[in-house]
Amino acid sequence: MTQLSERVLNMATSATLAMAAKARELREEGKDIIGLSLGEPDFNTPDFIKDAAKQAIDDNYSAYTPVDGYTELKDAIITKFKRDNNLTYTRPQIVVSTGAKQSLANIAAVLINKGDEVILPCPYWVSYSDIVKLNEGVPVEVQTSIDSDFKLTPAQLEAAITPKTKMIWYSSPCNPSGSVYSKSELRALADVLKKYPDVIVVSDEIYEHINFVGGHESMAQFDDMYDRTVTVNGVSKAFAMTGWRIGYIGAPEKIARACNKMQGQITSGANCIAQRAVITALNEPPSRVQYMVDQFKERRQLILGLLNDIEGFKTNEPEGAFYVFPDISFYFGKTLKGETINNATDFSLFLLEHALVATVTGEAFGNPNCIRLSYAASKEQIIEAMKRITEALR
Ligand code: PMP
Ligand code: GLU
Repeated sequence: MTQLSERVLNMATSATLAMAAKARELREEGKDIIGLSLGEPDFNTPDFIKDAAKQAIDDNYSAYTPVDGYTELKDAIITKFKRDNNLTYTRPQIVVSTGAKQSLANIAAVLINKGDEVILPCPYWVSYSDIVKLNEGVPVEVQTSIDSDFKLTPAQLEAAITPKTKMIWYSSPCNPSGSVYSKSELRALADVLKKYPDVIVVSDEIYEHINFVGGHESMAQFDDMYDRTVTVNGVSKAFAMTGWRIGYIGAPEKIARACNKMQGQITSGANCIAQRAVITALNEPPSRVQYMVDQFKERRQLILGLLNDIEGFKTNEPEGAFYVFPDISFYFGKTLKGETINNATDFSLFLLEHALVATVTGEAFGNPNCIRLSYAASKEQIIEAMKRITEALR
């Protein structure tokens, strides 16, 4: 009998992708499922980007690319970092990968030794924990609460650091809470880290442009943090390019070179056509994709208003990304349609079965009291989903 490795046996399946697959399966059985589970823009990739990809095919871009990305793409990324974030990077500090997910996997592989601790403020993006574990690191979950807008406080950070702490990973805007760290909040965390110069920060900024309130702030903007921060970004979200699979980092040169070496043995680099298209995407100002951000902002207002009317849903006010992360622990211990709800997973499955609405359990994000709803769906779908949830819970 084939024996699979402990590595894969010990790994959890991505809950976001699993829920999306389950919704797809039910749809194929004829059920009218509304999918609010997957974090994926429901827009098409903009035409000016598609045109660049078509041109790249005609121009015979078909060979292996440099492992860390085309020079023109690295230059477009350098320009983007300067223009949007006032961060200065040079070519050897940039690595292009097969999605930000692979950027994160590279970072873990090149930095974590067995037993190293990685601080993950909860709720964190679903894959952080398993990527860390896959590399024999130890995720250290730090619970935040809805009352602090799901943000890590300096005192919590200080308390979580041990001699084994290697890194802290967080996203801002945050998937799944939509929380956005302000400059002063980041500075306060940086002040704690000053005392621990060996701790590296992984700042996942993939939702940077999907930000409704203030501006976006990067940890690497602080001179004392620049040399110990890896800035992760990508085009999946703001440019509606999830399937194109391009992400990238700006990092201290030593880390970037190690990521380049790592992916040279694993993927040989990201897809050539997608890379050419991303050169065009990043060389344009972010205002080219503002129409999608405006839509997400309207939908956020819509879903927050509707959720407010449903008993037992307590939300923070997300300032970015396209998720809401309500606390639904009100329902724990209650029996709905003959089913006892013991936890967020039960609740999410209840909604799938009785409201035909796909969500993701908060347990996958390190918070057992919440569920995540993605509002990267049409207004009609959002309205219908909230109506169905209200009826199922009645
Ligand atoms: N980070 C966060 C916070 C995400 O939500 C996602 C979701 N796709 C990723 C990284 C990975 O993005 P991708 O691999 O599509 O670039
Ligand atoms: N990041 C998206 C989400 O959180 C896409 C799914 C995934 O990459 O796991 O739903």
